Amino acid sequence: MKLNWGMIGGGEGSQIGPAHRLGAQADGNFTLAAGALDVDAARGKAFAQRLGVAADRAYGNWQEMLEGERNRDDRVDLVTVATPNSTHFEITKAFLEAGFHVLCEKPMTMTVEEGEEILKVARRTGRICAVNYCYSAYPMVREMRAMVRKGEIGKVRLVVANFSHGHHADAAQADNPRVRWRYDPKMAGVSGQFADCGIHALHMASFVVGDEVRELSADFASTIASRELEDDAMVNFRMEGGTVGRLWSSSVAIGRQHGFDIQIFGETGGLRWASEQPNQVYYTPLGGRTQIMEKGEAGLSDEAARLSRVPIAHPEGFPLAVANIYQDLAAAIRGEPRDGLPGAEDGLRSMAAVHACVESARGRGTWVDARPPMLR
Ligand code: NAD
Repeated sequence: MKLNWGMIGGGEGSQIGPAHRLGAQADGNFTLAAGALDVDAARGKAFAQRLGVAADRAYGNWQEMLEGERNRDDRVDLVTVATPNSTHFEITKAFLEAGFHVLCEKPMTMTVEEGEEILKVARRTGRICAVNYCYSAYPMVREMRAMVRKGEIGKVRLVVANFSHGHHADAAQADNPRVRWRYDPKMAGVSGQFADCGIHALHMASFVVGDEVRELSADFASTIASRELEDDAMVNFRMEGGTVGRLWSSSVAIGRQHGFDIQIFGETGGLRWASEQPNQVYYTPLGGRTQIMEKGEAGLSDEAARLSRVPIAHPEGFPLAVANIYQDLAAAIRGEPRDGLPGAEDGLRSMAAVHACVESARGRGTWVDARPPMLR
């Protein structure tokens, strides 16, 4: 049976809205049944109706949507929260408490305390609170994780991740409102670039290695002087199992485009993946030649095969990674949970890492416990 789906944010012209609509509807699991899509009520209602939502379920804001949906027999099974960061906590909490499953955009909250509150509410209500760490749903990222789990590169010694692009490097554009808010603590919170992009890389390091970050040391820089929050972050970390981590996240790295890549170095081999070439993993066994593993080829793990949507050698893109998140959400809502869906624990760990980075950077790189108190 098809599930009913509702969306908050992701209005016309938004960056992430289209990926959610393509992702949720790619497999026929979800019907867009309700929405409060825009901060401007009239624009949001009109756009929802153009997308096929019935007039009485095209809402002016999320509070109206909560009231309108909570007592319906055909109420939405899943709500996606794709609004700006500062609104995630109250919307996600309200919908979880009303018994809805939620997919929240990252960062899940602005503070560690809010993150702990979301995790508590999700546990108490038994509702799914997933967080859209969608890069972890690329087939070849799952392949790396399966290889690490099978011991194919031995114990992981070192993980090096980058999420560094150059799209905010133009000082003349620093006051452009679409850019400026990301470095303004009132709008973005305690961290700029690390909370925006660095947490994807940190989540992926934990996801692939299969371990969590215990402590970290950060150096933050605002390379454009008018920016209050960092536009460049270098973070060293140690994982619970002893793996050493290095992470660089920047928005002033001219020449780097999306700029998200990860390398995992084990005792008997190394792996490399980059979001700009998501179909390939480079694998080098100790003392051997580098092999290029291709999405769709024979002999990959069941997980990588399950999440491959198009035949070998055809491009597989970002909305399909988001579609993999929705595919696993539909299965989980139907009571068949699958391994790998990023959840509220992941969202909370990211928030704890963001705040630990800020504390460390203010202390000129002192090592700080990165674990949220609730998960120590
Ligand atoms: P955006 O500014 O492009 O779009 C935000 C949309 O939300 C707009 O349509 C706006 O009208 C609407 N909106 C704002 N406040 C609202 C409210 N109170 N109620 C209903 N709608 C509201 O932003 P974006 O780049 O799409 O980012 C949205 C979220 O998605 C952010 O949290 C961001 O971090 C996250 N994001 C995640 C990824 C990813 O890879 N997972 C990528 C991009 C953005």
